This record gives sequence, structure tokens and C-alpha cells, in this order.
Amino acid sequence: MRLSRYFLPTLRETPKEAEIISHRLMLRAGLVRQEAAGIYAWLPLGLRVLNKVCAVIREEQDRSGAIELLMPSIQSADLWKESGRYEAYGKEMLRISDRHDREMLFGPTAEEVITEIFRGSVRSYKDLPKNLYQISWKFRDEVRPRFGTMRSREFLMKDAYSFDIDQATARHAYNKMFVAYLRTFAGLGLKAIPMRADTGPIGGDLSHEFIILAQTGESEVFCDRQYLDFDVPPVTTDFDDVAGLQGTVDRWTSLYAATSEMHEPAAFAEVGEDKQMAARGIEVGHIFYFGTKYSEAMGAKVTGPDGVDRAVHMGSYGIGPSRLVAAIIEASHDEAGIIWPDSVAPFDVALINLKTGDAATDAACTEIQANLEANGLTVLYDDRDERPGAKFATADLIGLPWQVVVGPRGLAEGKVEIKRRAGGERESVAPIDLISRLK
Ligand code: ATP
Ligand code: MG
Ligand code: MG
Ligand code: MG
Repeated sequence: MRLSRYFLPTLRETPKEAEIISHRLMLRAGLVRQEAAGIYAWLPLGLRVLNKVCAVIREEQDRSGAIELLMPSIQSADLWKESGRYEAYGKEMLRISDRHDREMLFGPTAEEVITEIFRGSVRSYKDLPKNLYQISWKFRDEVRPRFGTMRSREFLMKDAYSFDIDQATARHAYNKMFVAYLRTFAGLGLKAIPMRADTGPIGGDLSHEFIILAQTGESEVFCDRQYLDFDVPPVTTDFDDVAGLQGTVDRWTSLYAATSEMHEPAAFAEVGEDKQMAARGIEVGHIFYFGTKYSEAMGAKVTGPDGVDRAVHMGSYGIGPSRLVAAIIEASHDEAGIIWPDSVAPFDVALINLKTGDAATDAACTEIQANLEANGLTVLYDDRDERPGAKFATADLIGLPWQVVVGPRGLAEGKVEIKRRAGGERESVAPIDLISRLK
């Protein structure tokens, strides 16, 4: 992609309304634009990142055996009356009425819809287990939308829902998501710690929030710092291995980690003082087993092996991709701008032409772009008629993992310069060696 033909409305000034660094950088780097309070347009560069975040999430959901579908964003209030949540949900729900005065709503989550789909099509225990997920826009009329896409009113959510015949198999479904989440956040270049979360009236220990540590996080968290050194379950993980997965979850829940709502100072005191960590964090995912809460209320039953009907055991599992884009920036930036982890970078390479208009330099850049793209790398070629300083600043701001700098002086010696955005290391290489250096 040539930058001169792209749509990248970067800002030179730091927008005043943005309080935290990720919000500032997302606006400055032209990733998003606010259209109303807590409602954002995703501009081309931001959309590429968001899609990549979703691709990592999707890959791990699919690997764990979950199946993707897509539910409507406008839901019928009747379903929520069945579950008993219509009144209880309160002002966060955006309520709408259609031309026939039917009560509708913009879904803040989808337990009711998925339960309706399930009860309409599944009859027997033989069809279980199932885990169905979607990635779709949700709306919550947050009291205080802030920090850009970190806490917006319209936001993207991956929400998965598991269905099982009993509590034991539901636990396995929970463990699958737990492990898939560990892999997902690692795949996004983040260290997320699963922390015990409130299960509400159902009780039990089957709810975890996945938290990224960050000073700007809205949650107060307490944990054992050894979690930061834990190894993430490998790609070879067998999601059908019940005991194996339980072992992984046991290990990842063996040390102290709790959000403020679940914090027990006495238990935390037993964590050695050198290992105690009281910090702030960002909730990027939340998994929850809630048993038969919705299936009882809404009549989602299957026939068991004994011929008796019973309500299915369910869990729900959320991740916020649009919040994650901001969380990744909170975790990975410097004074000059964003530093994207490779897995979510909107392009792999920023190709910088130091002398646009110089025939030899232009030709070299065009050839390098074609060659990199032919080898599977995505390139944003800065062919604008701008001074080198402005191009370097843009490249640093938008944070692509590699910069390839091409100018007449280097070309005279048969060399171009590459810079790794993360560490800033520079190296002079022959264009022919670019592929082997960048891949
Ligand atoms: P929070 O405590 O931050 O309000 P929540 O507990 O209400 O979040 P869940 O219902 O658990 O959120 O939703 C699952 C995931 O959706 C969250 O872990 C988060 O990643 C994302 N999410 C929730 N609310 C928002 C929001 N307002 N903006 C962006 N992402 C959100
Ligand atoms: Mg909330
Ligand atoms: Mg929460
Ligand atoms: Mg939550």
C-alpha cells in the first residue's frame, strides 16, 4: 500500500480530551475517531489491527473446539423478560422500540439469544458438548465512557457460550476456554493473569477475569508476581485431555490472584512479601460458569442417557477485542509512538523513501515493495513528498515492527537500512537480503 493513496489521518497535536497514553496514540496515529461519546469509527489502520486481534482470538477459539456463528445485535425484549434480566439490567441497556411499539434492545451480551437458539435445535445429550461463539458489536450505555476504546459504549466482544449435560463436563468446557484464553493473550504479546472473580449468587470457584497489569487500569488487583514467569500452554495442547487441562488450570490457579472484590488480605499476607504484587489492571477477558441459570428459566433442556430431560449447564466467555487494541498500546509504546507486537501489526514493514521524486530511489522502493509483498510481508510504502524527518516520525508513531529506509546515498553502495521499531537497532543490508532479515 502506498501511503499517498491510503487514508491515514494522523494528528500532530496531542488531543486534549485523551487522558491515557493509548487513547492519545490511537487518535494521533489515525486508528480511530470519536463520533459520539463512547462511540468510535475504526479508520483503516485501526481496523487492520482490530481484525488481526480478532484473527488471533478466532484461531484459539477454533483450536479449542468452539464454533463460530453470528447473532443479531438487535434483540427482542421478550427473551430478556423470560430470563428475568430485562428489568434487572438497568440503564446500561440501550432500549429501542420499533414502528409497532415492540420493545427491542441493542444487545449488551447474548446469553438469552444463544439459549433461544439452543433450545430450538438441540434435544439430546448426544449433541453435547457444544461451544458456540461470535465476535460482534455490543452496546452498553456506560455511566462513564472514557479512555477511548478501553471503555466505550459501542464495543466489540467475542462471546462464547458452552452447553453441557452436567457440572463435570461443564468444568471441562470452562477449562478449555481458560487455556484458550492463556494462549490468546500470549499470542497478542500480552501477559494476562487469570484472577478469581465474583460468581454472584451461584457461588463456586468458576469465574476468572483475565487481567493485564497497567498503571492506567481501572481494576485494583492483588497477586503473586510469579505468575509473570509462568509458561503458556503450548500449541500442542490436547483440548480433549480432561485431566491434562485440569492440571494446567490447577497450576494457573495455584497462586494468589484476585481482584479487589475477591481480595482476602489474610490469604494475600501468606504470599511472601517479595512476591506480593498490588497493582492496577485492565480486564481483557472474563469467563464464567453459571450452571442452569438461563436454561432453567428459558427451558433449554436435553434428554439424558436415562431418557430424563434436564436443563443444560452453561458457561459464558467474553473477550474485548476493541479494549485489547488499547491495552496492547498501554503495554507497548515509547515516547515516539506505538510499538505493535508482530502478531497484530497493521503492516509488517514501513518502507521509507528518503528522496521521493528521485528516479533511482523511487524505482528501488517500488521493487523492494513488490519483492517484500511477493514474500508475504505487508508493506506501507511512504512515497509522500515529505521530508525524511516527517516520515520517520510517522513510522515511529504508527509503530510497524520494521522500517526499511531507502535513500540515494545508501543505494550508491548497494545498501538500504533496516530498523527494528521495538529496540531501535539499525542495520545496513543489501536489498536482496531483506527477506531473510525480516522474516
Ligand atoms: P468492566 O468491568 O470493565 O465494566 P465487564 O465485567 O462489565 O467489564 P464483561 O461483561 O465481563 O465486562 O464482558 C466481557 C469483556 O468485554 C470484558 O472482559 C472486556 O474485555 C469487554 N468489555 C466490557 N465492557 C466494555 C466496554 N465498555 N468497552 C470495551 N470493552 C468492554
Ligand atoms: Mg461493565
Ligand atoms: Mg468487570
Ligand atoms: Mg467482567
